[in-house]
Amino acid sequence: MTETLDIKITKTNHSRLNETDFNNLPFGKTFSDHMLMADYADGEWKNFEILPYGPIELSPAISSLHYGQAFFEGIKAYKHADGKVTIFRPDKNAVRFNKSAERLCMPELPEEMFIQSIAALVDIDRDWIPGKANHALYIRPFMFATDPYLGVAPSSTYKYMVLIGPTGPYFSKALRVKIETHYTRAAEGGMGYAKAAGNYGSSMLPARKATEEGFDQLIWTDAKEHAFIEEMGAANAMFLLDGTLITAEAKDTILDGVTRDTVIALAKDWGIPVEERMVSVAEIIEGAKNGKLTDAFGAGTAATIAPVGSISYKGEEYFLNDPEKREFSNLVFKTLNAIKYGTEEDTHGWNYIV
Ligand code: PMP
Repeated sequence: MTETLDIKITKTNHSRLNETDFNNLPFGKTFSDHMLMADYADGEWKNFEILPYGPIELSPAISSLHYGQAFFEGIKAYKHADGKVTIFRPDKNAVRFNKSAERLCMPELPEEMFIQSIAALVDIDRDWIPGKANHALYIRPFMFATDPYLGVAPSSTYKYMVLIGPTGPYFSKALRVKIETHYTRAAEGGMGYAKAAGNYGSSMLPARKATEEGFDQLIWTDAKEHAFIEEMGAANAMFLLDGTLITAEAKDTILDGVTRDTVIALAKDWGIPVEERMVSVAEIIEGAKNGKLTDAFGAGTAATIAPVGSISYKGEEYFLNDPEKREFSNLVFKTLNAIKYGTEEDTHGWNYIV
């Protein structure tokens, strides 16, 4: 038996649901009526509270603002045709949440508290989940340090919060991507495997430069030689090369993606060979040239399965096959959606019912 989390609930007396345009939902801009907050102090989590979404008051000296003791998660909830609401694999995010916490010297949040708090918030705002194809409720749990202290030291107090909001598809076309050969996302011994806020701050300048050069995304390579492919933007990079699904192994420079893990499980179900290993830029370029690279995509909760249309490397652009004709990624996309929206049996037990 698991204990039920005690959450104080204050509902809004003015829902914004009817003022929200569900036909225009750019990622991350629309928030539901409520949010969740909890405090960590004296060595324990307390004051779990669901309250109307809105600004909160904080000291300008809180250490997360100065030294980046902050991290987050990204999860989605789906509405099935029969009205049932499910959250996709939140147990995996709970584990990763605590890996991030450990790396940043922050307190862990027991898995039960993580999942129950999210489920309670989703339940209260379940009418905010779009019922349309390729739409979902994005869930953003995060934690940050709140000691008003400018010494470089782990905080003794923290806040855990969850925001949720409806969202549509993230990318709408095949991506033109560039292999990054100067900037680095993560280095061995660093915090690439954590969803640390700072990892995303440091990615913005290289991402903006890539956009200015006309690319949609960049592919991160290893910090030492820029010779091995690590990730694609804020998604895991996956390739089908000569019939084998290949992707970087989940090591300390790689975010251990839930979508990545799910795609690997599906490939294994279908008898497709899978290799989690270093993926060299050279073999991907070679595969693009000789046609053995039959699929390339980014895999992530927000991005879902984002097909790569072309890969540029050192000024040369390599065009890949027509994304609509790619057997593997289209089947993955279709199957994943069928499981998430409940039209196909969830044999792996990935859906958490709210
Ligand atoms: N890599 C990075 C750097 C990311 O930010 C994300 C998004 N969370 C992913 C990979 C994909 O992870 P997931 O499938 O768990 O969303």
